[in-house]
This record gives sequence, structure tokens and C-alpha cells, in this order.
Amino acid sequence: MILDGKAVSEKRLELLKEKIEESGLYPRLATVIVGEDPGSKLYVRMKHRACERVGIGSVGIELPEDASTERVLEAVTRLNNDPDINGILVQLPLPSRIDTTRIIDAVAPEKDVDGFHPYNLGRLLAGTPVFAPCTPQGIMTIFGEYGIPTEGRRAVVVGRSIDVGRPMAVLLLNADATVTVCHSKTRNLEAEMRNADILVSAVGRAKFVGPEMVKEGATVIDVGINYDEQGKLCGDVDFEAVRGHAGAITPVPGGVGPMTIATLMENTFRAANLRTCFNNTV
Ligand code: NDP
Repeated sequence: MILDGKAVSEKRLELLKEKIEESGLYPRLATVIVGEDPGSKLYVRMKHRACERVGIGSVGIELPEDASTERVLEAVTRLNNDPDINGILVQLPLPSRIDTTRIIDAVAPEKDVDGFHPYNLGRLLAGTPVFAPCTPQGIMTIFGEYGIPTEGRRAVVVGRSIDVGRPMAVLLLNADATVTVCHSKTRNLEAEMRNADILVSAVGRAKFVGPEMVKEGATVIDVGINYDEQGKLCGDVDFEAVRGHAGAITPVPGGVGPMTIATLMENTFRAANLRTCFNNTV
């Protein structure tokens, strides 16, 4: 079975559009981008387009490549204090000069629709999430939409980043899976992966996952965004080789990527709804 993230995201965005209309709210998302990286600019444009589609207002703050950490902090603080802004997204990666941790920590937790602030990561770890990071939360939505059970399943997450691997592992744990997290220092990686009923690859290497690493019938989630030798977009998984082997698999493109954006929209609407609950209590 191909897990069609594009179709699920379309459905979720339509539903969200209706919910926003009914709510009478006008949620607003602010994006902050530093520099001219074409990939980052493309992602931000896609996010603004999705906002427009569902009835979320969007504001784009563009800072020059040489902007200092202080300058980015200033922009974030202004957005934190702006009552018309519900969600703030700082497009990562930031130029290496900038202290990314300070920037993430500066975003008001109640506007942290990316879910990277320690408050929100802590809530996730405690099993009482407010905003979970969009990519892993979007993957959980795919499981829900396709009726893929997690309870009691062996899940293996390859990758331990703050944006994908770690929150993915915690979300799966919160959903009663038995979770193993693997990374570049993991021994016997292949054997660990072969044990998985649910295998999530968030490594960032083309053709990293071959059929010999996948248990027959497993659900395979491909988070990677890579380019092959021909310059064609591909994931971490050797899709053609693995698809016959897996029970269910996400393609790249059209799998996890669209779900990340749909979840960002859902989190922004959630932020607009939660605003009164938070009201300076965090
Ligand atoms: P990071 O580079 O932050 O993390 C990669 C992880 O992979 C690290 O934990 C690293 O281990 C691990 N790793 C690297 N090499 C190996 C190896 N040989 N064996 C086992 N583990 C290894 O990347 P991200 O988590 O941010 O992103 C991962 C991929 O997902 C990228 O391709 C990115 O573009 C994509 N992505 C896609 C999104 C989407 O919406 N589809 C959203 C976000 C990311 P260690 O910690 O030991 O270094």
C-alpha cells in the first residue's frame, strides 16, 4: 500500500479551511527567514501558499544573510509581542554564525507552531503535548488516516534530530509503540531495522534503506529529502526495491513532505484557539 501523504494533506487542508471559516477566527502565521538559500525560500513560499489556501493570514520577515543573532532575536521578540500574530516559524537552518538555540528559546511557547521550544518538547516528553513538531506529527496523522496501528508495535526510528527523530520516537512511545532510536553510532543497525514493524528513516541519504533492512510487511516511512545522481528528488529509501517488500510505504515526493505543511497549518489554527488559554501563563 502506498501511503499517499499528498492526498491526506489535501483532505486535512480542506477540513481545516472549513473549521477556520466556522470559527470566525483569522489566525496569522509569521515566518522569519535569514539569507537567500533557495531551498529555504521555496519552503517558506509553500507555507505562505498553504496559509492562503486555508484562510490563515501570513507575514514574511526577510533578514539579510549577514543579520546578527541579536537582529533575529529582535524580530522574534517583536512577533512575540504582536497580538495579531498567532504562530511564529523561524525557517531552519539558520546561517552558522547565528545561535540557533537562542533563537528557538526566544519564540514564545504559545506561538511556537514548529514545536521546537524546550517547553513544547518537554510537554511532548511528558505525554501532554501542546505543539508537536510538524513532520513527526504529520506522520502520526498518516497512521491515523490509514488505520495503521502503533500499539504494541516495534517502531525503529533512524535519526535523532530535534525536528524529526527524537519527537517521532516520543510520539510513537506516547502512542504505545515499543521504540528504538538509531543513529550514526548504532551498532548492528541493519539488524535493528529488520526488527521494525514500523520503520521511520530520517537520515538524509539517498538509497540508505534497501530491502535487506526491511521486515516483510513493515510500514516504511521515508522522511529524507535528497537528490540522486541525476539530480532527481528522492528520499532515504530505495523505493522501487523496497515497495514490494513493505506492507505500506510513503513515496518521495508526495509522502511526508505535504503532511509537514498541513500540520503547520493545523498547529497555527490551534495556536489561535489556544491563545486565551495560554494568556501569559507559560
Ligand atoms: P539531521 O542531519 O539533523 O539528522 C540526521 C540523523 O541521521 C542524525 O541523527 C544522524 O546521526 C543520523 N545518521 C546519519 N548517518 C547515519 C548512518 N549512517 N546511520 C545511522 N544514522 C545516521 O537531519 P534531520 O533529522 O533534520 O532530517 C533528516 C532528513 O529528513 C533530511 O533529508 C531532511 O532534509 C529531511 N526532512 C524532511 C522533512 C519533510 O517534511 N519531509 C522535514 C525535515 C527534514 P547522529 O545524530 O549520530 O549524527
